[in-house]
Amino acid sequence: MDGFIVSISLIIFGAVILYGILYLIIKAAVRNGIIEARVINERNENKDGNEEDNEYDINQVTCPNCGRTHDMDYPKCPYCKHVY
Ligand SMILES: [Zn+2]
Repeated sequence: MDGFIVSISLIIFGAVILYGILYLIIKAAVRNGIIEARVINERNENKDGNEEDNEYDINQVTCPNCGRTHDMDYPKCPYCKHVY
């Protein structure tokens, strides 16, 4: 009788451990999925930001007076003649 109770206890104990491991695996998978999704979003945001930055960085300057973008080579704004 004692052996029967011990074997049932072992089965229940093993089942609990098995469910615990499965729970941890599923939790880790969900966490990894969320992290991967965040990384992809950050990559897309960085990609867009870099593209926008590159557009402004290539010898382009925004005039503080009229707000238009023109080449950095001009000593003053070619549109409103604003001197920097
Ligand atoms: Zn200007």
